Amino acid sequence: MARVYNFSAGPAVLPESVLEEAAAEMLDYRGTGMSVMEMSHRSAAFQQIRDEAEADLRELMSIPGNYKVLFVQGGATMQFSAIPLNLKKSGVFDYVVSGSWSKKAFEEAGRFGDARCLASSKDGNFSYVPDVDALAYSSDADYLYICQNETIYGTRYPKLPECDAPLVADVSSCFLSEPIDVERYGVIYGGVQKNVGPAGMAIVVVREDLIPEDDLKDVPIMLQWRTYADNDSMYNTPPCYTIYICGKVFKWIKAQGGLEGMKKLNEEKATLLYDYLDSSTLFKPTARKEDRSLMNVPFVTESDELDAEFVKASKAAGLENLKGHRSVGGMRASIYNAMPQAGVEALVDFMRDFEASHA
Ligand SMILES: *Cc1c(COP(=O)(O)O)cnc(C)c1O
Repeated sequence: MARVYNFSAGPAVLPESVLEEAAAEMLDYRGTGMSVMEMSHRSAAFQQIRDEAEADLRELMSIPGNYKVLFVQGGATMQFSAIPLNLKKSGVFDYVVSGSWSKKAFEEAGRFGDARCLASSKDGNFSYVPDVDALAYSSDADYLYICQNETIYGTRYPKLPECDAPLVADVSSCFLSEPIDVERYGVIYGGVQKNVGPAGMAIVVVREDLIPEDDLKDVPIMLQWRTYADNDSMYNTPPCYTIYICGKVFKWIKAQGGLEGMKKLNEEKATLLYDYLDSSTLFKPTARKEDRSLMNVPFVTESDELDAEFVKASKAAGLENLKGHRSVGGMRASIYNAMPQAGVEALVDFMRDFEASHA
């Protein structure tokens, strides 16, 4: 068996021990004689998997009791619609557009109300995060929306905006990568396939008072957060296997020292890579230094041909999925929680050799 170092932006690398455990439980989950994939979501065994997953997530993120945890199919993209639909009161929605994902969310919100772009970093090809101290909030906004880590451009917010309206944050690509103060947010959500588990689900952590009390007549039932909040996220069949794997990843993160431990490991990995990039004469990181992501690291050489050559050669060396997103070009290394330090060391060693042979 040959495992590669997988730098994919998502679906992405998972902890090897989690995959091994899942493999060992594949045919017979703890004496049930069946796989979790074959199990009723109403069974006691699955109920326990679900409840433990939520409890472990609450512990990891220190989620206060007045926040609900929702497990929702449809990915982060479905929440682009659910957010304005559930939070709509005045119908004014404030957005900061710092990359493709917040742009998509902003455009979607425009279907449901007066979505306003308070600031955008499009002028710099989204290489930086707009200054949050300079935002002119709408006085009657239902919420302020940010994408805390822009996966494609490799930026993250160095600080959070201070606003009166509830803060809504897409954390798809930085979920559980470092400690987070849940109470500063109204809604924290993300698709799990970047940093938490296999594709098929978004996790939504939402302050209880922001969930509409009554049925929203014009909103499909599966887009209403209340449907999930009132039914342990099991109004219909949930993505059972994804919940099961996410639960294992939560336990793995706890064993790494929780989010503090995760942050330390992530900073070590990111520092290793950025320090090399800053010293390199061949490779150049594309995001502004103050706003660099711990998770997604885009970089370029001076030529498209050299970029292509690098991607090809790195693949042959067992370093997979380093090709950059077409909107930035070049390369991108996603170094999520489950990417081992040895993977980043292998990448940096490979880049050094490549640089030396192309000097
Ligand atoms: C990948 C990604 C999305 C889209 O996620 P889906 O689950 O595919 O809908 C949204 N936001 C961010 C920040 C992402 O990285």
